[in-house]
Amino acid sequence: MDDHVCGPGCMHGVTAENEKDIKGEFHAARRSFLRDAMVVGGGAATLGALGVSMSPSAMAASASAKPGNGPTSHYYIPASAETVLWGYFSKSAKPVVEIETGDYVTIETLTHHSNDDAERMVKGDPGAESVFYWDAKRKGVNRRGAGPMDAKIGAGGGEGVHICTGPVFIKGAEPGDILEVRIVDVAPRPSANPAFKGKSFGSNAAANWGFHYGDLLSEPKKREVVTLYEIDATGERNWARAVYNYRWTPQTDPFGVVHPTIDYPGIPVNHSTIRKNENVLKNIRVPIRPHFGTIGLAPAEADMVTSIPPSYTGGNIDNWRIGKGATLYFPVAVAGAMFSVGDPHASQGDSELCGTAIECSLTGTFQFVLHKKAELPGTPLAELNYPLLETQDDWVLHGFSFANYLAELGAGAQQSIYSKSSVDLALRDAYHKMRHFLMTTQRLDEDEAISLMSVAVDFGITQVVDGNWGVHAVIKKSIFPAREG
Ligand SMILES: [Zn+2]
Repeated sequence: MDDHVCGPGCMHGVTAENEKDIKGEFHAARRSFLRDAMVVGGGAATLGALGVSMSPSAMAASASAKPGNGPTSHYYIPASAETVLWGYFSKSAKPVVEIETGDYVTIETLTHHSNDDAERMVKGDPGAESVFYWDAKRKGVNRRGAGPMDAKIGAGGGEGVHICTGPVFIKGAEPGDILEVRIVDVAPRPSANPAFKGKSFGSNAAANWGFHYGDLLSEPKKREVVTLYEIDATGERNWARAVYNYRWTPQTDPFGVVHPTIDYPGIPVNHSTIRKNENVLKNIRVPIRPHFGTIGLAPAEADMVTSIPPSYTGGNIDNWRIGKGATLYFPVAVAGAMFSVGDPHASQGDSELCGTAIECSLTGTFQFVLHKKAELPGTPLAELNYPLLETQDDWVLHGFSFANYLAELGAGAQQSIYSKSSVDLALRDAYHKMRHFLMTTQRLDEDEAISLMSVAVDFGITQVVDGNWGVHAVIKKSIFPAREG
């Protein structure tokens, strides 16, 4: 299984042996997670027809997978202009696939920064070419963001930037339920350009929305710089290296609109207008920790929700711990849950300081388990109203400046959030959530919870660049050995 990446027509889950394999892989990944950030897998995720494929399983799943002993299925969603929403979550979008609890879905995701170097990240890749297609008349995906279609800089206004594959509709999911999403596998998408065989690439943009912007030592104080990184797609090397960087210059898109800054996603960068600096970050090895920056469910509060600020149903959480072997628990806000995933990252540090990670296309395999509202009381998932992450060793709670900014800030929330966030607010939210977690799931009283929080919980800055800023709280599961089982 080690070299396996699911492809269209994949037979995962067809036999009892395969079913055991995929579960074994999941448990092995959980054991090794964080101890070994090495990319396992990395074989070519071949792109077939632009349709979803499915392999049925005859095996009765275990109790943890599927209630009622029904067969599990494994779906495959290629990334294409037909299977992505660019820059938004929507409860009223048409689902790409409808699945049942316990099912597996392998999902290709594309980075919205692919056009920073189209030679390496788009050329020869039918899925990426269909999404990024843009000539004087037409774009492969016209709407980019939840904003107005007649926005000057482009349809959707760039109010939301991430290419999200989905939505996946989970049958029977209703508001009040919890959706568990297990990340079984994550692998980088190899460059389809034969000149770069065996390699993947990612882009890091030190952008105008970064924490550093305007606070630089050298002139010009307001500049955007793109650094391109190379990742080993074969999985042998668990580190990335920089290839070159360039300063953003005004780019004219195929519709004739000039973009003086990175103000709209997917602008094709004309490499004859930029100056590349080779040999940057020389001899530096960046550890790889592939993960999904944006992962979550459609919120209930609005029809079209920008993909940038994270919220109670997840979204652009931008926590590098959301990788292979990790499990997320999301509160379901709308019928079918409407799961999508995108913003793939090869690596990122806590805070995502300059505005982006190593933005690198990835393919993930996920298993979905629905926990119905009626089953929740008395379990650790009762009252869960934010995205909770479980890794091999830790519980990771996600706090935001505004726990549910859409409800708290009302009409205009999607615009006003950017001027209202702070680390202070996010830390307070993370504190409240950890206090609740300790008092409910571990049955501590408030004074016990406060003391434990101060001596054993690590609070960290998840990101300060996504509108609704994030602070996460990490607590080791090993603190509670006597309470297990
Ligand atoms: Zn990202």
